[in-house]
Amino acid sequence: MSRLRIATIWLGGCSGCHMSLLDLDEWLIELAARAELVYSPIADTKHFPPDVDITLIEGAIANDEHLELARTARRHSKIIVSFGDCAVTGNVTALRNPLGPSQNVLQQVYIEHSDPGGVIPYEPGIVPVLLDKVVPVHQVIPVDYYLSGCPPSAPRIRALLESLIEGREVAVDVRFG
Ligand code: SF4
Repeated sequence: MSRLRIATIWLGGCSGCHMSLLDLDEWLIELAARAELVYSPIADTKHFPPDVDITLIEGAIANDEHLELARTARRHSKIIVSFGDCAVTGNVTALRNPLGPSQNVLQQVYIEHSDPGGVIPYEPGIVPVLLDKVVPVHQVIPVDYYLSGCPPSAPRIRALLESLIEGREVAVDVRFG
């Protein structure tokens, strides 16, 4: 039996959801026997690959690179999971939204609240361009499953992955705690 191809993506989040995934400890060895990790911040891969079965997306969409990677992941994945509250609602990452469009945010962070004589760093093509508003993943691509929590607990991540790998329905209390 061929192993499923799994990917995980870290967008606008603190990496706490990935830390919770790593809390699965020895179950990750069992998972490795049934699935291959083909793209992840914890794997040495540069480009999102084709033919992915399940992709977990941590974090909200906050800049142009997030947007592009989320769209690529959607094109190349059968199942997309919004992984944690930042991906599901914007959560902590969206706290900057009340400050207004991205130029206002940068002005306040780099000038008004730090150095009145400073400059806003801008390196086209090197530093990702902030979007004017942080949005949850489902506002830019269709999402198949939501796993709420900040972060979702390791047992709920395991339950969701086991259901998806075995082709079973994912229970509501797994998805929303
Ligand atoms: Fe971090 Fe919580 Fe956001 Fe996950 S949901 S990325 S743990 S702030």
